[in-house]
Amino acid sequence: MTETKANIELILATITDGIVVVNQHGTVLYANQSAEHIFDRGELQGRDLAIPLSVSSACQDINLIRHSSIGWAELRSSPITWEKQLAYVIGVRDITERKTSELGLSLAAAVFDSTREGVMVTDTSNRIVRINPAFTDITGYSEADLMGKTPEILQSGRHNRAFYAVIQDSIASAGHWQGEIWNRRKNGEIYPELASIAVVKNISGVISHFVTVFADISTLKQTQADLDFLAHHDPLTRLPNRSSLLVNLEHSMSRAQRDGKYLALLMIDMDRFKDVNDSYGHLVGDELLQQVASRLLAQWRERDTIFRLGGDEFTVLLEDITDAKDAAHIANEVIEILSEPFRLADSIEVRIGASVGISIFPGHSSTPELMLQHADSALYKAKNEGRGRFVYFSESLTLAARERVDIEVRLRHAIKHDELRVYYQPQVDIRTGLIVGAEALVRWQSPEDGLIQPARFIHIAEASGLIGEIDDWVLKEACAQGQRWRVAGLPPLTLAVNLSPYQFLQGDISETVTQVLRDTGFPAAYLELELTESALMQRETEAILILNRLKALGVRLAIDDFGTGYSSLAYLKLFPLDVLKIDKRFIDDIPLHRDDMEIATAIIAMAHSLRLKVLAEGVENKNQLAFLETQGCDLFQGYLTSSPVPAAEFEQLLLR
Ligand code: C2E
Ligand code: MG
Ligand code: MG
Repeated sequence: MTETKANIELILATITDGIVVVNQHGTVLYANQSAEHIFDRGELQGRDLAIPLSVSSACQDINLIRHSSIGWAELRSSPITWEKQLAYVIGVRDITERKTSELGLSLAAAVFDSTREGVMVTDTSNRIVRINPAFTDITGYSEADLMGKTPEILQSGRHNRAFYAVIQDSIASAGHWQGEIWNRRKNGEIYPELASIAVVKNISGVISHFVTVFADISTLKQTQADLDFLAHHDPLTRLPNRSSLLVNLEHSMSRAQRDGKYLALLMIDMDRFKDVNDSYGHLVGDELLQQVASRLLAQWRERDTIFRLGGDEFTVLLEDITDAKDAAHIANEVIEILSEPFRLADSIEVRIGASVGISIFPGHSSTPELMLQHADSALYKAKNEGRGRFVYFSESLTLAARERVDIEVRLRHAIKHDELRVYYQPQVDIRTGLIVGAEALVRWQSPEDGLIQPARFIHIAEASGLIGEIDDWVLKEACAQGQRWRVAGLPPLTLAVNLSPYQFLQGDISETVTQVLRDTGFPAAYLELELTESALMQRETEAILILNRLKALGVRLAIDDFGTGYSSLAYLKLFPLDVLKIDKRFIDDIPLHRDDMEIATAIIAMAHSLRLKVLAEGVENKNQLAFLETQGCDLFQGYLTSSPVPAAEFEQLLLR
């Protein structure tokens, strides 16, 4: 071997490209080591490699079917003379790696463009560098909109900083994050997406990019929400259903317990629903139920407290009740609004009614299930009793509440239909024995029950707010009557009118009084307003303000029923009062009961020291009067002179 030949051998063995020489038939005449490695088929000499040969040295790629894998090679061949024969020398370069990554990239690109998931690539300074078409479809942002911007542009505002910090942490520590996130589309709409964020590292393992892949799951969410809604609502009326009720009840019960309030569950059942269903069919029945639901909703819109349990059964859950009997009020309203006729399709008009069963917590039941059961059995009773009524689980509550509701309803009617009367009870000056005034006391002249005393209805009027109207009416009536007496030339009389604490603190009482005095012409100096201690003590500062305003009008102020409330004379100093009325209770036992006599004596003395006139209430006999006279009491009223009487009779008393 010449030196040159030996050197060439060495060179051929060193280069990484393969060198192969084949004869015209393709049989390998020579192959260097690299070629054997690239083809990976052992010894190549003498083999046919089936390589298409050409005289041009143009480059061509071939597939390499190798021992254990497939590869790619780039070939360049050119003819040479080998051992005096025409042969070809072929340069073989292994391009498998380049090919696979090329192919991989185009595959990735195809996936990137055609996937239905949105893809976003950001760089390490959090700038968006690429998005795919699906991203544009989902968000509405084009590539031009976003290039160079940060993904913050997509934020919905639904998540706080901590949420994004958790994502950052997870990416930093684990290299990826996956979860649900709310983002905002270009049109402002926010939507939920299921996203996964991963880091991309370069060959040296340094993070170069972040890839976010996400799916819009708003429809998925919607379906889930729909399913959720269906699970807790009745599809016909869209009211919450029984399972919602049980959950709500549980919460309401613990709230009621905490706040020391009552909770009432009203179970409502239509009285003639079955008839409607049977005679007009289910479609009409369904429509009726929907109308029932809307009537109930219209009544209690602010509170999410109406449920449909199925069939024609609805419930109303009442919170914040201070008196168990108050539930009857609502029950009555339910019965009333559901007894109005319903107009259905095809001009069908139906009248159904409703019955209501009521259970109360605390009291009747300790668990949501029991509350429901008890309301149910009360409802059963209501139906048995003849429908169109309410029944409490406890009988005594039913009776008490019914009487109250009954009176309230009738009282409302009475006010409208002029069934109220004012009676006058003389007030006598003890020194002269002359009638100097009268207390105006309300009566209810009921066409059914005759004359009803205030003890039976004043507290109900107070609880239901009707008292305001009553007091205003009595005030107006008394002043008008007083003015008529003045005009008729009767001796001047002071007329005392009672004001309930409610009316005193709620309404603008000085406004009302001004108006009434102006309308009737009755002089302010002859009007005396009676207040109870509780009215004054409830909101002391406010009470002083109101009293001063009344005082400025020129009216007289009296404290009624003194001795039954806080009874602090020192306290009374704060208020601009004129008269103190000793409660009948202290007068009753005079002169039998020493204690009462002493108390009366003390009250009179102390009131005088406060420059208050003293009036004794409920004086029924001469002994009492004699005692009061010796103690220096100024005035009295009581059966001894007269019980409260109508205006005409009072005139007779005056003339006597
Ligand atoms: P009051 O303001 O303390 O009225 C005095 C009550 O004692 C009256 O009862 C009167 O009839 C009764 N009475 C007077 N003298 C005697 C007596 O010698 N013996 C007995 N046994 N009773 C006597 P009445 O008219 O039944 O009124 C009861 C309460 O109802 C009143 O107590 C007052 O608090 C309230 N009331 C009456 N009318 C009104 C009104 O127009 N508005 C308000 N807010 N309350 C009223
Ligand atoms: Mg009074
Ligand atoms: Mg009194």
